[in-house]
Amino acid sequence: MSTDPGSEVGRVLAVAHARAVSWLQGVGERDIPAWAGIDDVRHELGAELPRGGEPADAVLARLADAVEPGLMASASPRFFGWVMGGTYPVALAADWLTSAWDQNAGMREVTTGVVGAEEIAGHWIAELLGLPRESEVGFTTGATMANFTCLAAARTRVLGDVGWDVAGRGLSGAPRLRFVAGAESHGSVTLAGSLLGFGAPITVAVDAEGRMRSDDLARVLSDDEGPAVVVLQAGNIHSGAFDPFEQCVRVAHDAGAWVHIDGAFGLWAAASAHLRPLMAGASEADSWATDAHKTLNVPYDCGVAIVRDAPALRSAMGMHASYLAATASDVESDPHERVPELSRRARGIPTWAVLRWLGADGVDALVTGLAASARQIAAGLAAMPGVEVLNDVVFTQVCAALADDARTDAWAAALRADGVAFASSSRWHDRAVLRFSVSNAGTDAAHVHRALDAAAAALARVS
Ligand SMILES: *Cc1c(COP(=O)(O)O)cnc(C)c1O
Repeated sequence: MSTDPGSEVGRVLAVAHARAVSWLQGVGERDIPAWAGIDDVRHELGAELPRGGEPADAVLARLADAVEPGLMASASPRFFGWVMGGTYPVALAADWLTSAWDQNAGMREVTTGVVGAEEIAGHWIAELLGLPRESEVGFTTGATMANFTCLAAARTRVLGDVGWDVAGRGLSGAPRLRFVAGAESHGSVTLAGSLLGFGAPITVAVDAEGRMRSDDLARVLSDDEGPAVVVLQAGNIHSGAFDPFEQCVRVAHDAGAWVHIDGAFGLWAAASAHLRPLMAGASEADSWATDAHKTLNVPYDCGVAIVRDAPALRSAMGMHASYLAATASDVESDPHERVPELSRRARGIPTWAVLRWLGADGVDALVTGLAASARQIAAGLAAMPGVEVLNDVVFTQVCAALADDARTDAWAAALRADGVAFASSSRWHDRAVLRFSVSNAGTDAAHVHRALDAAAAALARVS
């Protein structure tokens, strides 16, 4: 394949480059919701599979023309929907290189370039988050799979400790494993437990901010004995709250449980000197799941599974085949032994690039800044007539509501219809809420003000 700009590869990458730059230069000022319906997009793409093909540059032009009207401007600095980060240019560029190199990142001694970069990124993440240096780090598609990966290692260990080899014998007839999580744990924790044969979590009571109550954890764990896995949370999706790790980890470890922390966006609090107290005690857990594609602002898909007990992870995720080039070392595992996939792209490379570009101080400023913007949003909303901010804004999440649910929903719809700023509708503690999640590195005070003006105008329209 030639890289001469006159060649096919040069030509098609130039088309992609031009379309990407024009999209990114406009994304901050465009109406945030997608305006094309899915049927329109399908029609424009051409729903019928053609008999004959089409030249590559025509395919790319058709793709961009058809898809762009159906894109949500989630990269806008005034996008506060769900928990979705933007993308730093350096991360996007590194992602393009990763695709261009098209390496299979599964085997350490075969594709040394990309595995080396991912391993450094993994060490840097553990260091920034204050987690044990001996931990193994796997790059997954997202925090859902990171939770799954960590909980698979947990299953191997806690059943192994009572003499049950889950890899060999499966779960039929296995000792009962108690799977315990807070009443406001994320749905992906429930899904991971279901995929692993744990069943639905036994829930522990939470306080007004959604934090696990350690006294109730003690009660739940004392009900029975035997293998147990406890899932704690760093960053509640509604309140942003963090479980009291010191107390909960101690209670869980006293009962012999494995402790996992789902910190899809919240784990990054540890990288901020100002916010680090929220994470006190978290490093005593056994495994941690996070995303780089949320708080760290790298492109999808990048989740991170971090496990202290390397042999348990390797046993849960490893596979053996005579044709694989296994690493020569007993100490180092191959990347495919840390995640569910065998073949995969080197999705950790954009994370290396962002960390190298920001440095530890830059990550601190990023995370501290997101939380500061959330506090500004909360203060601005609370000053509007009839608006209540329901949560204690300790991190990046703000839940606002009006006295009546129907009016809250109407306010949310009016804000989104206006297109300037975007926040999600949700329900929390039996009330309709308008939820702002500050996850985009580009959100600064000026964008916060524009978003607040849009929220005030939307409120006036429904009052
Ligand atoms: C987003 C999120 C997840 C799931 O992460 P994905 O990257 O979407 O798979 C899990 N837990 C929490 C708390 C989240 O916010």
